[in-house]
Amino acid sequence: MTTIQQNLEAVRHRIAEAAQQCDRSPKEVQLLAVSKTKPVEAIQEAIDAGQRLFGENYVQEGVDKIQHFNNTSESGQLEWHFIGPLQSNKSRLVAEHFHWMHTLDREKIARRLSEQRPATMPPLNVLIQINISDEQSKSGIKLEALSELAAQIHDLPHLTLRGLMTIPAPESDPARQLAVFQKMTQAFHQLKSAYPQIDTLSMGMTDDMDNAIRAGSTMVRIGTAIFGARDYTL
Ligand SMILES: *Cc1c(COP(=O)(O)O)cnc(C)c1O
Repeated sequence: MTTIQQNLEAVRHRIAEAAQQCDRSPKEVQLLAVSKTKPVEAIQEAIDAGQRLFGENYVQEGVDKIQHFNNTSESGQLEWHFIGPLQSNKSRLVAEHFHWMHTLDREKIARRLSEQRPATMPPLNVLIQINISDEQSKSGIKLEALSELAAQIHDLPHLTLRGLMTIPAPESDPARQLAVFQKMTQAFHQLKSAYPQIDTLSMGMTDDMDNAIRAGSTMVRIGTAIFGARDYTL
């Protein structure tokens, strides 16, 4: 077995344990493998080990990988999620190539993505990014602004609003970390009561996935625990 295969098994096991500890079914938690900076060979190993959902942060790198795997036998089963910050001049590439977009936080980008989504493709699945820890971070909206942006996105024909995403500030105290995730879960359930198609709460990374699952995450975005540490100097 390769290391990536072993890592994937370990992560699946960690998801199952965290879910069982709070009486959730492990099936409620999807695993998004975050492959940014990693070569197509590493992604192929993950595909061979049964992984189908992949997350990419950089538009051009993601598009190159999507096109690479378009010529393979598994391509119809693969799902590509854009999870990085998006500048409006790059929105067309996301609209034309990805299945999901996790970091929507502006009406202007939402409108562009909807206009640029090819009519031959199903609507782009989008998540609104919430800045839950209220830090200086520029990405994500505050919870108070959620209902307005959700209503604007809901009206766009080529987008489907599927839920919320967050990247909380690192928190060393587990109880406080859990409380932050629970605040997201509450907002998620509120949104779901207004829009029944809402089904995805994207939260939890390598270091905080266990508490994210305990709080109610339905999709964890895991890079390091699957592919190893990233080298940005390459
Ligand atoms: C890089 C990244 C991840 C994966 O982080 P790890 O700590 O390596 O698991 C998840 N989500 C987003 C938005 C990322 O940029």
